[in-house]
Amino acid sequence: MRPFRLSLAIPIYNEEEVLPELLRRTRTVLDEMPGGPHEIVFVDDGSSDRTPVLLAQAVREDPRICAVTLSRNFGHQTALTAALDYVTGDATVVIDGDLQDPPETIPLLVEKFQQGYDVVFVQRVKRKEPLWLRACFWFFYRLMAALSDFQLPLDSGDFGLMSRRVVEEVRQMKEHHRYVRGLRSWVGFRQIGLPIERAERLAGESKYNVWKRFKGAADGIFAFSVVPLRAATMVGAAAILLALLVAVYSVYAKFMLRQTVPGWTGLMVSISFLSGINLLFLGIIGEYVGRIYEEIKSRPLYVVSSVAGRGADANSMSGESQRFAVSAGKKTGS
Ligand code: UDP
Ligand code: MG
Repeated sequence: MRPFRLSLAIPIYNEEEVLPELLRRTRTVLDEMPGGPHEIVFVDDGSSDRTPVLLAQAVREDPRICAVTLSRNFGHQTALTAALDYVTGDATVVIDGDLQDPPETIPLLVEKFQQGYDVVFVQRVKRKEPLWLRACFWFFYRLMAALSDFQLPLDSGDFGLMSRRVVEEVRQMKEHHRYVRGLRSWVGFRQIGLPIERAERLAGESKYNVWKRFKGAADGIFAFSVVPLRAATMVGAAAILLALLVAVYSVYAKFMLRQTVPGWTGLMVSISFLSGINLLFLGIIGEYVGRIYEEIKSRPLYVVSSVAGRGADANSMSGESQRFAVSAGKKTGS
């Protein structure tokens, strides 16, 4: 293995129950990894439990650990983005903080990196979620792949490895509704999938409820596809065609059959159908307009309240991430 520096990027939100075990297992993986010095960048996404206390303690114990604390809860994808802004390694592995992604599989990803791949995305096999949720995931990834204009890998989450140049490209993308795994695919270079079994959460509750998952799915679709907008045109055209046929038939009925269509039913059906379609597509257009509005406000993606550990030492931060910090207008505290 070539000597190299590995970074782990881990967003965490109220994970006091999992954190000790997470620290133990990830540190063991880094201990056994050749090269170095490696690092773990935790982003505390505004936890309200004992997570910050445990993190501060970990920072004191292990110089490889950096803890970035956000000023409030910004959400998983944003916390992950913050973590990517602070990593300095030659390769970065993104991993969830709940041990659903086994840290012991990280060497498998690194092996692919050593073979020259820039992105190793983990494809989840044998998920442990309930059947209905797995069915939703299955459908969502296929819908995404069909709608997006470049190839998005199926069934892969954020767990994966990115080379430094991919991380730097992702940092350049300042969009607000972030779908990090999509951004990662978009960058290109040599990418490869690696099937790995997904475990159950070690402890605690999933931070995603159905509504949050729905929002996440919408962010993925609207950020990587304009097909829903185009669908408005297509359905509109089909509706006009249908209306034309009905018009032709009405004229025919009136003059040739000498019988007028009783009318009321047809009228009600077509009016309600068309107004439904109208509202639906107004909503879809609204989704895009809302996103454009978010972007033009160009607020920073997140606000940092403190950085402890390795990242606090500005000299050890890469030039790129410092520049990013300034250009994104982030407030960085002590
Ligand atoms: N997380 C976060 N901010 C949030 C929600 C979640 O940083 O607002 C973290 C969470 O602590 C975990 C990871 O993101 O490390 C994935 O969250 P979770 O396990 O709840 O999602 P799921 O695996 O159920 O999709
Ligand atoms: Mg999880």
